[in-house]
Amino acid sequence: MTNRLPYGLATFCKSAPFSRSPSILSQPTQPSTLTTQQREQGAYFAPKFDASGLLTAVVADAATKDVLVVAFMNAEALERTRATGIVHFWSRSRQSLWMKGETSGNVLKVDEILVDCDQDALMIRAVPAGPTCHTGATSCFYRKLDRAADDAEALSDCE
Ligand SMILES: [Zn+2]
Repeated sequence: MTNRLPYGLATFCKSAPFSRSPSILSQPTQPSTLTTQQREQGAYFAPKFDASGLLTAVVADAATKDVLVVAFMNAEALERTRATGIVHFWSRSRQSLWMKGETSGNVLKVDEILVDCDQDALMIRAVPAGPTCHTGATSCFYRKLDRAADDAEALSDCE
């Protein structure tokens, strides 16, 4: 059972284990010329897309912190997510921009967007309007794997 907290109480953002020097925060630069230190510790948002133009986006429930879905964003999906406050992805199978919940109405409203150290993955803290998975499950991660079982019978429902 999850003990649901009122929205706003939970927070993902943890302070870094290092102190940032003012010079890193204030150095004007271009994304292409960022040093590793600037990318990892600075204020410059320079998302690192892979060879296919995608980065990984993990969406977690803002209240429970449960992971709801993992998908991919291209630059346009990221831009739409920032502009609208509603999570957008890039569908690799359909090769198209996709607002999560556009058909079901179960959109994901952005609370916070966290950026990982090397800026190639995002963790989005969101408020879901309904079940996130197209199967009707709250989370896409509704089954667990028995590591020791044969593949044919290795999956079972989570509690
Ligand atoms: Zn799903």
